Amino acid sequence: MISARAVARLSAGHAWVYRSDLVSADGIGPGALVRVVDERGRAYGTALYSSASQIAIRMLSPGPVENFPALIRERLLAAIRYRDLVVSETDACRLVFSEADFLPGLIVDRYNGVLTVQALTQAMDAEAARQAVISTLAEQLSPAGMVERVEGRVRELEQLAPRANALLAGEKTDTVFTMNGVRFQYRGLEGQKTGAFLDQRENYAAAAHYAHGDALDVFCYQGGFALHLARACSQVTGVDSSRGALEMAEQNAALNQPVREIEWIEANAFDLLKDYSEAGRKYDTIVLDPPAFARSRKNLETALRGYKELNLRALKMLRPGGVLVTCSCSYHVSEADFLETAASAATDARRTLRLIEKRGQARDHPVLVGVPETAYLKCLVCQVPR
Ligand code: SAH
Repeated sequence: MISARAVARLSAGHAWVYRSDLVSADGIGPGALVRVVDERGRAYGTALYSSASQIAIRMLSPGPVENFPALIRERLLAAIRYRDLVVSETDACRLVFSEADFLPGLIVDRYNGVLTVQALTQAMDAEAARQAVISTLAEQLSPAGMVERVEGRVRELEQLAPRANALLAGEKTDTVFTMNGVRFQYRGLEGQKTGAFLDQRENYAAAAHYAHGDALDVFCYQGGFALHLARACSQVTGVDSSRGALEMAEQNAALNQPVREIEWIEANAFDLLKDYSEAGRKYDTIVLDPPAFARSRKNLETALRGYKELNLRALKMLRPGGVLVTCSCSYHVSEADFLETAASAATDARRTLRLIEKRGQARDHPVLVGVPETAYLKCLVCQVPR
């Protein structure tokens, strides 16, 4: 049973009910399918319940659900069909994006012949749901391998037993995939997220379109932006604090011969930008793609200070006509906040900043307008006019 506040939220198109808005959930087990009712007994449909998460309820359907595995199958087919509409120039994409594909708690990514599956909730981790996902994906896509990716922190929050990344079906965990004609190694059992940052795929192409001259890719991970920039720029430097990520970046560069040599630097980005800008280094293209600084609303202020510092340093180093591609993947930082931060950095750097494009996550990470949390990535492509 849910509160009036939760009713208002669901009526506005949202898909979640927080634990603080539950009036009662007596006797409901972890991961159960539940009928959602308000205090007057009015029904709001069927949801998935979590006994541990602050997000207690994730809506599944406005009506009754007789057969959950059958519903999973149907929605997986729809999710796969949707990708046929929006994905091109790649053999890697997100096939299922949780709420935005009406499969709350489930992420499925495709890397060429290898599929990755991530169950983020008790309900999606339950055996019948897992089997429905695995068998439908196997039957529809005949992957060479299917790998389960585990987010330890999420499993802890959901009070699910710890588990390691593992092969679920088939034989292959590793492959090579292509985005916009650039090739990348994929290791199914390693790396961050489900392995790569597929949400930036369309932004890589946009960045390459405007990029020129000397380029700096800050927070480069395995080289997503840097390898794209290398096609257009005379010199590219990638910076990251993770040696493992840079080793993969180097292997990715080797896969794309003959691109020009890329310099990979293991460093703290804040220190490096400070040193380089104070030393008067200049670039024509700079990409900033830091990890999410605002993990919650509480550290929004600190996060904005972090973004401002990075953008300020970068802007000081841009030559006239230079391009800044600046990203934030913090959901709690709105596009308006982020634009304001960029503007304030430009003022302090005494640069005029022209916004060429306001971009977001690639279209295979769809956004539900009623669920603002599904839109998280901001990518501003800007120019410092001559
Ligand atoms: N641009 C990448 C994704 C970046 S993810 C892509 O498109 O694939 C964020 C990266 O920032 C991670 O690789 C992480 O290792 C790195 N990172 C986190 N904190 C850092 C810091 N202080 N200095 C440098 N790199 C950092």
